[in-house]
Amino acid sequence: MELKSLPEVLEERKDFIFCKDKNHGNSMKCDSESVSGAVSQRACVYCGARVVLNPITDAFHIVHGPIGCASYTWDIRGSLSSGDELYRNSFSTDLREKDIIFGGERRLTGAIEGIMEKHNPKVIFVYATCIVGVIGDDVDAVCRGAERKYGIPVIPVKSPGFAGHKSMGYKAACNALMDLIGREKSPKVKGINILGDFNLSGEMWIIKDYLKSIGVNVVSQITGDAKCEELKRADGAELNIVQCAGSMTYLAKRMENEMGVPYIKVSFFGIEDTVSSLMNIANALKDDEIIKRTKEFIKEEVRKMDKVFDKYKKNLAGKKAAIYVGGGFKAISLIKQFEELEMETVIVGTQTGKKEDYEVISSLVKPGTVILDDANPYELEQFMNEKGADVLVGGVKERPLAYKLGVAFCDHNHERKHPLAGFIGAINFAKEINLTINSPVWKYTK
Ligand code: SF4
Repeated sequence: MELKSLPEVLEERKDFIFCKDKNHGNSMKCDSESVSGAVSQRACVYCGARVVLNPITDAFHIVHGPIGCASYTWDIRGSLSSGDELYRNSFSTDLREKDIIFGGERRLTGAIEGIMEKHNPKVIFVYATCIVGVIGDDVDAVCRGAERKYGIPVIPVKSPGFAGHKSMGYKAACNALMDLIGREKSPKVKGINILGDFNLSGEMWIIKDYLKSIGVNVVSQITGDAKCEELKRADGAELNIVQCAGSMTYLAKRMENEMGVPYIKVSFFGIEDTVSSLMNIANALKDDEIIKRTKEFIKEEVRKMDKVFDKYKKNLAGKKAAIYVGGGFKAISLIKQFEELEMETVIVGTQTGKKEDYEVISSLVKPGTVILDDANPYELEQFMNEKGADVLVGGVKERPLAYKLGVAFCDHNHERKHPLAGFIGAINFAKEINLTINSPVWKYTK
């Protein structure tokens, strides 16, 4: 389908953009390196690894690199903790010019030693950043030496920023988690692991409450509000449920192949996906009592939702939404959430979506919807203007773009301060979309 503004997009980017037509499927390019010069919104490999591991509340995170890399800290993913606050600190080896010339291994050894003297760490993660990849410090050897000396896991996270993009960082984090989980074989227990929820604004606690209501025990949380000791027991669980598929499917597959823990994908964003996820968990556990309790729980929760939603639908029906988020699973749930509010999605993009995600996205949206992978602000601006979007759902990097265009914005990323997961999250989402779209401020910006 013809797009008015497509000719203005960089030639090399055109394959990453698709406009849904009535007749053909989705043939767009994705899951590849960003086009040089296209100003990708993606973060670096190290940042990808850090956002996955940082929510482990009682681990130490040493950033082996220049001090600037350490600015990716708790602030970029405000995961909440029910106990330890250690994870809110950032430790850096603060590499300087001399270390780049003579090597940074001594500085890393010193940083580990300093932490061991002053604290009592259970686990230390050591992130190798760009410059460490360039100068070739043997991070593995330093970590092995520290493990022998101190008797705790000191785990290297191989994440030089230039080694790919954010997705590679997810993989590096999953490998580090496997290193921790796989050290000792745990006894089998009844219960599941939650993978890919990071407890933003307490979302992990909402999901855990739902699971408790239907009689499902949680063995470990990977990694929202996680504790090192619980993580080590994850291999004993009956099932893994994977919420953020982009970051955690790799870990789920490794755990299935190497530890025999099967997995299913879930999403707790929106009523439809929350309902089907709870039902899928109950069915996967094959326990009649859990299935019965789940059906009752869902019936009661959905009954409470109807009245609340009617109010928002009146204000939002017919409005147009643009979505630009990190992973495919969230984009898919958001399309359904906008449908629940009788709104239309006109643009959908992700930073790290996979082919199968884009196929589902394509099957859910109407002809004429623009679908893009690894977009940049210029493209988002072009298509939002062309499609007349009333609201953009994204993260911190997209917020200024929306405001400059005089368009409503909803933060669905790491920095938000209220939960958007589960039934309560669906209400919060509807409330926020209503408030932002119908704010009187927009009439002064046009
Ligand atoms: S790109 Fe390299 S230097 Fe920049 S934050 Fe990432 S690891 Fe550090």
